[in-house]
Amino acid sequence: MMRQLIIAGNWKMHKTVAEALSFVQELQSSGLDSRVEVVVCPAFTALAPVAEALKGSAIRLAAQNMHWEAQGAFTGEISPLMLKELGCKYVILGHSERRQYDGETDEKVNRKVKAALEHSLIPIICVGETLEQREAGKTAVTVETQTRAALSGLTTEQVAGLVFAYEPVWAIGTGKTASDQDAQQVNGLIREIIAGAYGAEAADAVRIQYGGSVKPANTRGLMSQPDIDGALVGGASLKVEDFAGIISEA
Ligand code: PGA
Repeated sequence: MMRQLIIAGNWKMHKTVAEALSFVQELQSSGLDSRVEVVVCPAFTALAPVAEALKGSAIRLAAQNMHWEAQGAFTGEISPLMLKELGCKYVILGHSERRQYDGETDEKVNRKVKAALEHSLIPIICVGETLEQREAGKTAVTVETQTRAALSGLTTEQVAGLVFAYEPVWAIGTGKTASDQDAQQVNGLIREIIAGAYGAEAADAVRIQYGGSVKPANTRGLMSQPDIDGALVGGASLKVEDFAGIISEA
């Protein structure tokens, strides 16, 4: 199966509304390769204006997180219903920064994955090992545990439509990228886990990104790996020149 590459820019806690708008304006006029699905993930405050600016464009919108309830007494939270209303197609779930700083457990990630699907949002599920886990030889078991937990209770059809992002924590924002081979090995493992649990068809359909210090110079090698179907880009998604460079290298 030919899986369409998906390159998503995770802006994290960067860009005011004005900065976000000027970014998407410039990105749209940079002549993007239509073979690649391009996604931007602004902060909550910029989602609505960016959605408006992207009307009629092929660039898709994602949120960086959400709560699992549709509404309720959850001060400071944003619900899947609200994201859907704004026109988000995707939502990043289980990013390692949220696992590290905001108590995002495997169980919470699973609840959010189910809630996203209920509201027709496509989760981009982040998994990945810390440096300590890698050095202790626990990369595979960590990624397997996170992957299986995120998928708990889903149907085969739901799993087939998901996006995963393998993001080794030690590679995020550090300038240290996983080698093409190391990234391929873990992405391949995620696909094997899905094949084992949900069958070859679902495994073949699911898209698995790599994330962690992706930049134009390392994009081609990573994207030419058989199980890497795109990138989740942090730092290098903040400047149009770098992000557009990654898209064209992909
Ligand atoms: P980075 O971040 O590209 O800055 O390493 C990736 C991510 O956290 O998604």
